[in-house]
This record gives sequence, C-alpha cells and structure tokens, in this order.
Amino acid sequence: MVQIKGLHKEFGALHILKGIDLEITSGEVCVLLGPSGSGKSTLLRCINQLETFEAGEIRVGGDRVGFAEQPLGDGRLARLTEKQIAAQRARVGMVFQRFNLFPHMTAQSNVMEAPIHVAGVPVAQAKARAMELLERVGMADRATHYPSELSGGQQQRVAIARAMAMDPELMLFDEPTSALDPELVGEVLNVIKDLARSGMTMVVVTHELGFAKEVADQVVFMDDGIVVEAGPPSDVIDHPQSPRLKDFLDSVL
Ligand code: ADP
Ligand code: MG
Repeated sequence: MVQIKGLHKEFGALHILKGIDLEITSGEVCVLLGPSGSGKSTLLRCINQLETFEAGEIRVGGDRVGFAEQPLGDGRLARLTEKQIAAQRARVGMVFQRFNLFPHMTAQSNVMEAPIHVAGVPVAQAKARAMELLERVGMADRATHYPSELSGGQQQRVAIARAMAMDPELMLFDEPTSALDPELVGEVLNVIKDLARSGMTMVVVTHELGFAKEVADQVVFMDDGIVVEAGPPSDVIDHPQSPRLKDFLDSVL
C-alpha cells in the first residue's frame, strides 16, 4: 500500500529526512516512534503530499505521489491533471494532533464537507454516510453539536469520522492523543483500534507503547531523519537493539 524508497527532505539548509525506506502492506498498522524533531510529522506530510521532497520516491497504492508527473512505463512522463492530483490526495485521510474541525460547523457538517464539496456526493447521501461514520466513532448523539460544545476526545473522534468520509485507502494519524487530557486518550485510541481491526491500513505516530504493542504489525523507530529500527513490536519495543531506541523507550515509559 505504501512504498517509500530513499526519501530525502530538506527545509532550506536543514536536512530533515535522510534516506527513509519503508514498506507498509495493505491492512497493516504501522506505529511510528521517535523523539520530537526526528522527522515523523514531515514523513507523514510527504506521504500526504502536504510537502514536496528533494529525492526518493513515495508510492501509495502503486501510484507515485508528490509529483505532477507519472512515468508511462516507456521512459516518458505524463503530466497529471489537478483532478488526478486531488484524487490521489483523497485516497489518504489524515488526523492531526490538534483537532482541526471547522468551528462554525456542526459535527455532522464537518464530516459531510469534503464528500459534498470535493467529491460531489449528493447532500442526502453525504448526510446519511456522515451519520453512519459518527455512529461508528460513538458520536451519533452529538451530530448537531458544534466543536466548542464537545470535549477534546469527542472532537478528535469527529475528526476521525471526517477523515474517513472520503473512503481513504490509507489513514495517517499524527499524535492523535497527545493534546488530550489523560482521561480522554482511551476513547480515541479505542476508535483507532476499531478501525485497525476493520482492516484499515494506517500509520500512527504515537508515544502510546501499550497501543503499539496491542495493534501494531510494524513499529518503526526514527531518530534524526533516519529509520533506526523497524519490525514487530515484540522486537522493537520488547527487545530494542540500539542505545538510541533504548533511551527513547526509557524516556516515554
Ligand atoms: P517530529 O514530528 O518527529 O517531532 P518534525 O517532522 O515535525 O518532527 O520536524 C523535524 C524537523 O524539521 C524539526 O527540526 C523541525 O524544526 C523541522 N521542520 C519541520 N517543519 C519545518 C518547516 N516548515 N520549515 C523548517 N523546518 C521545519
Ligand atoms: Mg510531529
């Protein structure tokens, strides 16, 4: 589902991603660990085409992303239309640390927005689908509430429903619980676990090691723009090899 080869990202003189290789198979849950500043958000933003990059390749569902051109297979490149790029983007859903719901819209309107305005789904159909998704994240009874009337955990659950509304093939979560009060973390992790069990392919940046052990197929530890260790949680979390990972695990426990 995701293939990343030799990815390099620079911000001016700063070399942020220094040759990332990563493969995520369909239905896999990949947990991305690493200290602050190691490049985790930048990696997710490259996958979701919110950043350009200097070298390497990212494929999502086989298609090369982050370029306005695609190889035709005979050495030539075909230029993508705006519509094709928008369609690529819609295949990936993203949930950020700060619940970035539209404040002037109800929970249900937030979830309906992209299907109606980006995908051209008829209003009645988008409404019904939004209710299904709100049901799934346990927020159906708050459909008419505005973000300011919801707790952080509830807002984040609506944000997950909203990201799901475009039927993405891949979901990216960037520290989805780190801005929440501790008692609200569990309800959001439970929603993400449910999605994982339903077979959704996802990359989750989180420091929640219990969650990683329970649901991750692959744990990737990044530090200073490189992948230091990757493998099943029973290796990476339970039997870390590098001093950097050992220090990191001690610091988040
Ligand atoms: P993480 O998510 O692992 O904490 P980030 O990907 O947010 O790390 O950041 C990695 C590094 O890239 C940091 O040193 C950060 O300051 C830098 N960085 C991120 N975004 C930008 C930007 N837009 N311009 C310049 N530097 C940036
Ligand atoms: Mg980050």
